[in-house]
Amino acid sequence: MTANNRGRIVIISGPSGAGKTTVLAEVLKQAPVPLVKSVSTTTRRPRPAEVDGEDYHFISAEEFEKRRLRGDFLECFEVFGSGQWYGTLESEVDKGLQDGKWVVLEIDVQGALEVIKQFPDAITIFVSPGGREELERRLRGRGTESDDAVERRLEEAYHEMDQADRYRYQVVNDDVRRAVDEIRNILSSNCNTEKKQDD
Ligand code: 5GP
Repeated sequence: MTANNRGRIVIISGPSGAGKTTVLAEVLKQAPVPLVKSVSTTTRRPRPAEVDGEDYHFISAEEFEKRRLRGDFLECFEVFGSGQWYGTLESEVDKGLQDGKWVVLEIDVQGALEVIKQFPDAITIFVSPGGREELERRLRGRGTESDDAVERRLEEAYHEMDQADRYRYQVVNDDVRRAVDEIRNILSSNCNTEKKQDD
């Protein structure tokens, strides 16, 4: 990929439980720019109601490893140290950029830092929940995971929240509509800015 792609990369991170998936779904419905979501690939199992190819490309650990070694991923990491891998396929991003789309990556902080190295002009947004108590309430309330998994996610979430200032924009999701508006405004405000050239 080159710096001459017409599209832009938007990165949204934030701890699980910050509600970023919900917020992003709303932003995608009413985006002020031609925004498309990069569908990540993961080895974790689908949650109820998740659809293969829409929420994630769900694949086996063996297949993931094969693709990782083949260099198919723009970035990939084992998230939470639980043995589950997540990655952004280069082909997902390329396809959108070549079409002049703004490709949004919903990825964790390690992945974001890797992508920023390759795309320094990426628009980076960190979504956090109101506070730690609110985060814990949401993660437990989801009821889709064991206590152990929730504890692991909480630990990872606190660690991620400490890194929010590495992002160009921070959005607090204590009200979905307001968070959606804020992200739409961020995107609009980047419409007229020229993409920085790589140094
Ligand atoms: P979940 O399992 O709740 O869908 O996602 C868990 C974490 O993995 C979230 O923080 C999410 O942002 C991150 N994640 C999802 N897809 C990717 C990806 O492609 N790469 C990286 N590095 N993280 C991802």
